[in-house]
Amino acid sequence: MGYARVLCVGLVGVAGHVVEVEADLSGGLPAVVLTGLPDTALNEARDRVRAAVVNSGQEWPPGRLTVNLLPAALPKHGSGFDLAIAVALLAGAGDLPVSPLAGVVLLGELGLDGAVRPVRGVLPMVAAAVRAGVSRVVVPVGNAQEAAVVPGVTVRAVDSLRHLIDFVRGNDTLLDPPPAPPPLPYSGPDLADVAGQQTARYALEIAAAGGHHVALIGPPGAGKTMLAERLPSILPELDDEAALEVTALQSIAGVLPPDGRLVRRPPFQAPHHSASLSALVGGGTGLGRPGAISLAHRGVLFLDEAPEMSRSTLQALRQPLESGRVLLSRSRGTVEYPARTQLVVAANPCPCASPAGDQLCNCSPAARRRYLSKLSGPLLDRIDIRINALPLTAVQLMGESAATGTPAVESSAIVAARVARARSAAAARWSAGGWRVNAEVPGPELRRRPWRLPARGTEILHRAVDRGVLSARGLDRVLRLAWTVCDLDGREKPSPDDVSEAFFLRMGEMSHRPARDRKRAS
Ligand SMILES: [Zn+2]
Repeated sequence: MGYARVLCVGLVGVAGHVVEVEADLSGGLPAVVLTGLPDTALNEARDRVRAAVVNSGQEWPPGRLTVNLLPAALPKHGSGFDLAIAVALLAGAGDLPVSPLAGVVLLGELGLDGAVRPVRGVLPMVAAAVRAGVSRVVVPVGNAQEAAVVPGVTVRAVDSLRHLIDFVRGNDTLLDPPPAPPPLPYSGPDLADVAGQQTARYALEIAAAGGHHVALIGPPGAGKTMLAERLPSILPELDDEAALEVTALQSIAGVLPPDGRLVRRPPFQAPHHSASLSALVGGGTGLGRPGAISLAHRGVLFLDEAPEMSRSTLQALRQPLESGRVLLSRSRGTVEYPARTQLVVAANPCPCASPAGDQLCNCSPAARRRYLSKLSGPLLDRIDIRINALPLTAVQLMGESAATGTPAVESSAIVAARVARARSAAAARWSAGGWRVNAEVPGPELRRRPWRLPARGTEILHRAVDRGVLSARGLDRVLRLAWTVCDLDGREKPSPDDVSEAFFLRMGEMSHRPARDRKRAS
């Protein structure tokens, strides 16, 4: 009779845990017993593994086989344990020497024919293995590229259980991951396509530079969606840490492109206003999958026609936006997903959504107030910039299209370069506090020396607070924005003009073209 042990990784949310798969063969009636909190998929593993072993030309070990997954208290799900279970069984029965696999993590689902199939979440699994001190992994061929982006690990790929058995017996039948593909150039929508909307474009640039949440209020056809979709195009590329986080979330959600390339561009998620709560914040069967807010982690979450969303949905966004993470409580445990996202909310000014804006609107002032007030509690409180996107005039549309071919409208690349400069200035200033963008800086820090602005420059804000049009929280938001305005202009400290520009951005009163833009255009 025999015993063997191999390593695997289980995922709870994005957190991976090394799992020991033990197998023990004892005398008795032939049976396979799985212990260690297996869910339905794991029970199915029993039948899959048996078929895969037999179809790989191996004899099924006679007797009573016990497979135990440790730690037992860790909730386990999915089919990624198949490969480890098969190897542990064969080794426990004495059919396979496992010493070549000592300290190696095995990941993969088995087909009935013995093929090793890709699984979701390989990147966070491999990252967890590395953190636990494991430096060698064997993964399905289809996941090799994805596994190889994790630093500090040797990845070997396998396409069938047969080949893994041959490897253990001394033949090198494993494959190396393909060389890393070159990074893809940005190919999404470009700001050069947006006609008019000078103020909104400027607001988007500010939002990108300071990491501020934005609300775009305007009639249909004002280009709100076009603008929002282009925010990622002016954000900087993700750094190594952020790229790994974003790629890991896409891997878990099963939306990673097949080439397994590291995601370097900030993601963009635009859930429909009728999307279910679980589609938005995460959920589903078992431990729950990440929702749109987590898939927008380190990127942009766009809520179009946000007042059409149910109150409970809007309410559910509140906690993740505050904390930057989603906690899903399930019967089998709690899962946490990161959700640090930049929010763009778009809304029509009123329920009738007349494309001409105010002129043809029949809504009563009360109805208009009610419509937007739905957003106020949970969302608008957290939004730094409010922009009234006006309908485009024929002159603007014609003027822009006549200018096709001439660089009348700045492209995303030009704006992105300014954003990157502003962001590095901010990151350098706040490095001691560990904040990367102005939107992350706590209010008290901004009101304290050496960052406190002279009273003379902030009179407009003091008057607004005294009149009750600006809350204490709102005041901090204006201060953050003023720093971003100043960073984009490449100056050291916000001027009184920066403060008033920030105030108008916050209050949604910036319907004029900003001074800086006029300067640039002339
Ligand atoms: Zn209306």
